[in-house]
Amino acid sequence: MIAHLISIGNELLMGDTVNTNASWLGQFLYERGIQVSEVHTITDAPEQIKSTIQQALKGADLVISTGGLGPTLDDVTKKSIAELFGVDMRHEPRVEEHIKELFRRRNLPYSKSNQGQSLVPENAELLFNVSGTAPGMLFKEQNSLLVVLPGVPHEMKHLITTQVAPRLQEWGGLNVLETRYLKVAGIGESHLADYWLRDIEASLNEHTDLAFLPSTGQVRLRLTARGKSRDEARSRVEELCSKIQYQLGNLIYSNEKEGTLEGALGQILSQSGYRLATAESCTGGLMGHLLTETPGSSAYVQGGIIAYDNAVKMNELGVEARILEQKGAVSAEVALQMAKGVAERLGVDCGISSTGVAGPGGGSLDKPVGTVWLGFYTPEEHFAVRAEFSHSRSLNKKRSVITSFEILRRCLLNIEELPYNLQKVYPASSATMNQTQKGAADTSIRGDSLHS
Ligand code: ATP
Ligand code: MG
Repeated sequence: MIAHLISIGNELLMGDTVNTNASWLGQFLYERGIQVSEVHTITDAPEQIKSTIQQALKGADLVISTGGLGPTLDDVTKKSIAELFGVDMRHEPRVEEHIKELFRRRNLPYSKSNQGQSLVPENAELLFNVSGTAPGMLFKEQNSLLVVLPGVPHEMKHLITTQVAPRLQEWGGLNVLETRYLKVAGIGESHLADYWLRDIEASLNEHTDLAFLPSTGQVRLRLTARGKSRDEARSRVEELCSKIQYQLGNLIYSNEKEGTLEGALGQILSQSGYRLATAESCTGGLMGHLLTETPGSSAYVQGGIIAYDNAVKMNELGVEARILEQKGAVSAEVALQMAKGVAERLGVDCGISSTGVAGPGGGSLDKPVGTVWLGFYTPEEHFAVRAEFSHSRSLNKKRSVITSFEILRRCLLNIEELPYNLQKVYPASSATMNQTQKGAADTSIRGDSLHS
C-alpha cells in the first residue's frame, strides 16, 4: 500500500514551522507496513490544494493531508475539497455543540468564523476531534482513501491513532511490523551483501526487508517483517533472523538494538574469567574509553597505559630500545612487546596494543598514513596484525579500536578468520613465544582467507 502526504500551510514553506507532521506520519505508517512514497508541502492556495489532492489520489492508495482547517480566512482546505468533489457543505450539529462547549469552558465568545468549522463537505465521513475545534474528514474516492486532518500536531496524532488507524485496519491496509537487529564488525557492507548474504537477500519477499546500516568498522543489519497480526510478523522476522544467524554464526556480535562491540567483548572476557589491559599509542586512550563505556566493565578491565612517547613504551611496557631503533615504533615487534608488556606489568591474562601513523603527517613509503600495528597477548596466542586505514586521524583511531576489539573477540571465540582478511604475525624468537605457537615460523603470516 502506497501513501502520499500533503502538508498544507504557508508557514511550512516559509520555514516558520518545521514539518514534523510529515515525519511523524511517515514513521507511523512505515511501522505499520504502509510506505509513504511522496510528501508534498504546499501553500494555502485553493487551486494548488485541489490539483495536488487530485494528483495524489491517482498515484496512491492512501492520501493524508494536514493543515488549513482552522477558522481563519487563510484556512481554505475544506472549501477546496468540496469544490474538487463538486459537493455542497453539510452542517454537523455535534461538532457545533462541541465547539460551543469548548468556548464556554474557556470563557471565550463564540464567533461567526467558528460556526464554519461545523460544516463539512457532504461526502465526508466525520472524524470527530475531541481535542480541538477542527474536525477531521475521511473520503472514499474510487479505490483510494483521502484523510484530511488539522495541522496542530497533537490533534493530528490523536485523530490518527484513535480514528484513522482502526479504519485503515478495517480497510485491510494496516500491518503489524516487527524489527530485529543483528550486528557485525570487521566485514564491509558490500562484502556482507555480495558474499555472505546474497542468497538471503534474494529470498526476501513483499513481507520482509533487510537493511544494511554501516558505521565505522561495523554494520548493523535491520530485519523487518510485516504481517496481519503480531504473531505473523514475529514468525516472519524470526525466520529471517534464524537464516542470517545460521549463515553468519558467531560473526554476529550482538542481536540487540543497543548492543555494542565492546559490550560483547566484555561478556566474553567475563565468561572466560580473563582480565584485560591496554597499551595504546596511536589510539591515545580510546580503547580504554570505549571499554569502560559499558556498565560493569570493572569485572574485566584492569587498566591501561597510554604509551605515546617511546620513553613510555620502554619504561612502562618494557619495549626494547634496540627494537624501537631497528624496527621503528610502528612495527609488529613493538606492538607485540607492548601487548605482552602491559599484560605482564598489570598482572592480567590479556593485553592489547596499538601503534600506528594516525596522520595526517608522519607517513613514509613503507608506512603510509593509516598504517597501524595492533598487538594481542592472550593465554592462547601472541600475535600482531597490520592494518591500513585512511587519511583521517580520528577515523583511524576509531577503526583501530573497533578492529582490535573484533580481533580479540574472534580470537577468544576461536574464530580463525580475521576482520577484513587481515593476517596474524607471530613473534620471531621462540623466547617470546608461548607453548601453543611453537610451531609457527618466524614472523610468518598465517591468516586464513575469509573466503577459503
Ligand atoms: P486549527 O484548527 O488549529 O486552525 P488547522 O488545520 O488550521 O488547525 P493550521 O492552521 O494549518 O491548522 O496549523 C495549526 C498549527 O499547527 C500551527 O501552529 C502550525 O504551525 C502547526 N502545523 C501545521 N502544519 C504542521 C506540520 N505539517 N507540522 C508541524 N506543525 C504544523
Ligand atoms: Mg494553516
